[in-house]
Amino acid sequence: MLFSGISLDHKKGTASSQTLRLPLPKSVRIPMSQHMGTPCDPLVKVGDIVSVGQKIGDSAAFMSTPVHSSVSGRVTSIEDYLLASGKVCKAVVIETDGTQTVSDEVKPPEVSDLKSFVEAIKQSGCCGLGGAGFPTHIKLNVDIKEKPIHSLVINAAECEPYITSDCRELLESPDDVIDGIEKVMHYLEIPNCYICIEKNKPEAIKLMKEKTSNKSGIKIVSLKSSYPQGAEKVVAYSATGIVVGEGELPASKGIIVLNVSTSGFISRYLKTGMPLVEKRLTLDGDALRTPCNVFVPVGTAVSELISFADGSPEAIAKLLAGGPMMGMCLYDINTPVTKTNNAILAFTEKLAKDKSDKTACISCGRCVRACPMKLMPTELEKAYISKDKEMLRKLKINLCMNCGSCSYVCPAKRNLAETNQLAKDFIR
Ligand code: SF4
Ligand code: SF4
Repeated sequence: MLFSGISLDHKKGTASSQTLRLPLPKSVRIPMSQHMGTPCDPLVKVGDIVSVGQKIGDSAAFMSTPVHSSVSGRVTSIEDYLLASGKVCKAVVIETDGTQTVSDEVKPPEVSDLKSFVEAIKQSGCCGLGGAGFPTHIKLNVDIKEKPIHSLVINAAECEPYITSDCRELLESPDDVIDGIEKVMHYLEIPNCYICIEKNKPEAIKLMKEKTSNKSGIKIVSLKSSYPQGAEKVVAYSATGIVVGEGELPASKGIIVLNVSTSGFISRYLKTGMPLVEKRLTLDGDALRTPCNVFVPVGTAVSELISFADGSPEAIAKLLAGGPMMGMCLYDINTPVTKTNNAILAFTEKLAKDKSDKTACISCGRCVRACPMKLMPTELEKAYISKDKEMLRKLKINLCMNCGSCSYVCPAKRNLAETNQLAKDFIR
């Protein structure tokens, strides 16, 4: 694999703004499915009084992680909710009481070895904060005697335009990031760590170099600013030169990739026992008059964030959870913020690009050159249209990570990345 990537306008206008704190909303709606895997079952009922950090949802399934209350108050409803992904799950609605009383359950976990470390991370409700939502305890649950891990890769590339929440984590909480890294290195006996940051964040690179200058085994890798530098397999390759192949997890090659905000969270959780109940989000887009970074209780309605950033709902033509390349369109302005959100972007008609004027492929090959996984988007599109499962597998559709680079560069405005998602669902 030889990563070239595509050049995007960074638009990191919020990179230097200190993270603000959202005023407590009147209510939150906390979905029981905020991670990859089995949704949780609610542990509370209507009328219950809950406090901050209290566990309100859990599941016995292996691929799951608990959900905690982000506020103190009273449960007013447990309802079915249609997520932006199109899935329906239970959501617990809590009316806040304004006191933010912390639950008695919140205390630093007792951790002495890898087993208790993994269990603590499970109880923290942590899942990949870069957006994928893979439960972190599963990523860390490695048989290190059988399969040692040689490299921890900290993903701070943040290659999507507009988003700066990971950059703010580096600048505002560098000691937490490093402490989280050292905990993971210690319990998983990992000798090397690479903190990977794109070159367009020189302040963060400088600070982390200073902070890690006396830390053995931790290196700062400054990456070319190129999209999708932050994709898991790409960043693993950029840091170590090792290719993680189709259907493989980085751990099978001795690598663990963690998002930088996950690392900072691990440190804070081990010190305080406060589970994952709030997120730092970037609010940006031309429909918002005051773009910023802000700490938000999980479950807060996006409408609260729009008004916090001086946006008017009537001006919004496109609302995204995440970046413009891989973010998800939100159909409802009251969609709740989840653990995996790192940005809310709101665009007016002027910037809300649509694909309605797509034309025939002119065989220019730009999509092939743009693909970081060296796939052939045009051939994949043909195979999907003719519903040829064998060809889709042969063309390695499962290597597509829906980064959107092929669609972005296509002069014929073809929906190549979207077609690939449909194709993956089709062969599944
Ligand atoms: S969306 Fe898939 S096919 Fe298109 S560039 Fe990204 S990885 Fe390649
Ligand atoms: S970039 Fe668009 S027009 Fe060019 S080969 Fe790919 S699909 Fe065809």
